[in-house]
Amino acid sequence: MQKVITLKDLCLVTKTAPMAADIHGGRAKCLQRLIRLDMPVPTTVAISFDAVRAIAAGQGADIPQILRHFEETPLLSVRPSSMDPDWGGPGAMLNIGLNDAKHAELCQSLGEDVATRLYMRHIQSFAVEVARLDPEEFYLPDHPSQDALKAMLATYESEMDAEFPQDAGEQLSEVLRSMARAWEGTTARLLRQAKGAPADAGLGLVVQEMALALGAGVSGSGVVQFVDGTTGCKQVIGRFVPQAAPTASLRDSKNAEFLSRDKRGPSLEEQAPEAYQKLIEYGELVRTRLREEMEIKFVVRDGALSILDGIRLPRSSRAAVRIAVDLAETGVIAKEEAVMRVKPAALSELLHRQVDSSAKRDFLVRGIAASPGAASGRLVFSGSEAQASAARGEACVLVRRETTPEDIRGMHASAAVVTLRGGVTSHAAVIGRGIGLPCIVGAADLDVDERKRCIKVPDGRSFSAGDMVTVDGTTGQLLAGETAMLEAALDDGFQTLLSWADEVRDIGIRANADTPADAQTARNFAAEGIGLCRTEHMFFDGDRIDLMREMIFAETSEGRAAVLERLLPLQRSDFTELFRIMQGQPVCIRLFDPPLHEFLPVGKAGMRELAELLDVPLAQVTARVDDLSEYNPMLGMRGVRLGITVPEIYEMQARAIFEATVAINAEAEAVVPEIMIPLVSAMREVELVQSRVDSVAAAVHAETGVEFDYRLGVMVETPRAALRAADIAEHAAFLSFGTNDLTQMTYGLSRDDAGKFMSDYVNQHVYAEDPFHTLDLEGVGELLQLGAERGRQGRPDVTLSICGEHGGDTNAIAFCRAQKFDYVSCSPFRVPVARLSAAQLAIEDKKDPR
Ligand code: PEP
Ligand code: MG
Repeated sequence: MQKVITLKDLCLVTKTAPMAADIHGGRAKCLQRLIRLDMPVPTTVAISFDAVRAIAAGQGADIPQILRHFEETPLLSVRPSSMDPDWGGPGAMLNIGLNDAKHAELCQSLGEDVATRLYMRHIQSFAVEVARLDPEEFYLPDHPSQDALKAMLATYESEMDAEFPQDAGEQLSEVLRSMARAWEGTTARLLRQAKGAPADAGLGLVVQEMALALGAGVSGSGVVQFVDGTTGCKQVIGRFVPQAAPTASLRDSKNAEFLSRDKRGPSLEEQAPEAYQKLIEYGELVRTRLREEMEIKFVVRDGALSILDGIRLPRSSRAAVRIAVDLAETGVIAKEEAVMRVKPAALSELLHRQVDSSAKRDFLVRGIAASPGAASGRLVFSGSEAQASAARGEACVLVRRETTPEDIRGMHASAAVVTLRGGVTSHAAVIGRGIGLPCIVGAADLDVDERKRCIKVPDGRSFSAGDMVTVDGTTGQLLAGETAMLEAALDDGFQTLLSWADEVRDIGIRANADTPADAQTARNFAAEGIGLCRTEHMFFDGDRIDLMREMIFAETSEGRAAVLERLLPLQRSDFTELFRIMQGQPVCIRLFDPPLHEFLPVGKAGMRELAELLDVPLAQVTARVDDLSEYNPMLGMRGVRLGITVPEIYEMQARAIFEATVAINAEAEAVVPEIMIPLVSAMREVELVQSRVDSVAAAVHAETGVEFDYRLGVMVETPRAALRAADIAEHAAFLSFGTNDLTQMTYGLSRDDAGKFMSDYVNQHVYAEDPFHTLDLEGVGELLQLGAERGRQGRPDVTLSICGEHGGDTNAIAFCRAQKFDYVSCSPFRVPVARLSAAQLAIEDKKDPR
């Protein structure tokens, strides 16, 4: 059905025209604002999203309705106007309407050379951008001539079997159709979605009378901004190109001049001081009246200034923060608005780790540095492997020949990406930058065998799936192993913005931190404590794994206790260090969680080594490994079940926690450690562990004579624990929802295997999103709500939180705020993002209380 095009859909931009950014796009709305500030903007018509959609669907544009606003033989430009300029759009088309007659006219006014160059450039861009003809056939000679022009028109005619359109309306109609269709293309759609555009984002178009940048006096076009788009610092930046149309490549023109007076060459300020002065005034005007830093395109014709376009200045994440803070500090916007203006995702880009410049680099191969930051992870070769790895909480590096849209989920799940093919604008590069993922592309010297899941590097070494590598997306180097990293440098603007966010935030943000390095990052990002310390990670370190294996092989309780005695000082110093770093803030330590067999070797060689280490026959090792193997280890002997059946482990951990508490209380602010029991499904489990932990506390108190306090809590990660939260809470000072396992068990969906079919499930809309990435508010959410309500019934002041991977997600934070949870806990690097998201939710709520 044809869409009925209304006046609003084809709207002459005036001070009072009924226009809106969500109907006509940001650029069109911005032009209206510039007109309201009495800036000299040429006649402009805005075409709405709906009308552009209709054009893309094959409905012809109502050209007479558009052209009636312009003079009889107009020269026009068309620019894209999406809701957010960051979402991109098709390139601008200029000089629409230029034809043989107009060319003849311009030959008189501008001279033949200039007019012919202009016409040929127009035919070239129309042929390539609109008619999609081969660019090779339409090159621009250095010295355009009438003959070259005729040849170009003839080429067009032979390629198209039709003359180059002489009618302005026909040219405009074709341009509008091609731009409308370009927006609907799959690549354009994916690119903008990676930048946060919704799937149904619309494109508006802006048709504007060309202000010719050619003339006898000072004439030309230019672009100006008043702030550096990379750093956010104040500075007049831009270029002026004499006698040139305002194309996108203005800045790169070899004839470009400076704007402000400059020793290095001529400037607009010297040649047209009045126009320059006006530009500076306009900069201040848009800043204070439109409350934004803008980039302005302008034309000067014989000294007179026209403003063609003003868009919100494209900016790096760092500049976005700086600009928002500066606008608030100079009273142009309120602090809360500054907090609202920075996208949480943009903040995370500031948080890139870099390879420590003093670290040794075990260089493997170089590619194109496509997205900055560095990350280490285990090699994976497919998106599903990456998703499985992320679900296990293991960082991975995804290696692909090149990525396609099907890889986007895998990329989201990876710590970094390497591709063999592609350049800085390839899919991997663009998506990598969009989501802040370190990325190397075009690493052509890397040999990949995707079937055998291994890579070979030029020096002959091979690496297989699971091997650790480091991607340095800033230099384009792939390195072997895990490399020392430097934390991101965060400036005052970042700190100021987050301090404003904290003033309005109404839910706590803690970090999941297992190591002193994680704890330090958490502290640097002002996390309000550690919400989850997964202690088992401490047992994989160095020699500790051997001690764990000895313990697993011990035949008696005394034997186990003897080995644990040797682990005790190591754990004590782990905890002392965490307490020291966190300086009195709460630290929630989760007791040992994984199944024991995770500590045992898998292959024959590993078992032989272990037999040697333990000085036992190989058969004994294999028998023990068999003994411990389970059909469903994630539902088997793990978490509190181990705590009940092999109590020595939890007793050792409790002792280490209390001894560390005593040690730290002697030197610094007292800590109140939090001890969390994993995988609980019955109240009696908590009772049993509680009585053992209490007696360890009493023993440490008796031995040291030091008083200390502690809180015992439960990790709610089985559906039964959520259902039985009322009686469980009678024995628990806090309940922390482990949404990873809770999602796994609610769906009956393996965290480790779901990646294999998750894309199919999401593509076929079985699940709206991967529930391991985005908290399922309907199902898992209902259990959380129920668990929270029942927990409060059992203990009205019970502390409630979530600590699964969802903790830093805006939708999970929104849910936890609505349920009045005390805090969320997320990975340390997500803490600033979570602080900002939580603040934005609180501000939105104030504006629009539910
Ligand atoms: C969880 O299950 O949500 C959780 C945080 O624990 P883990 O990921 O260690 O199982
Ligand atoms: Mg868990």
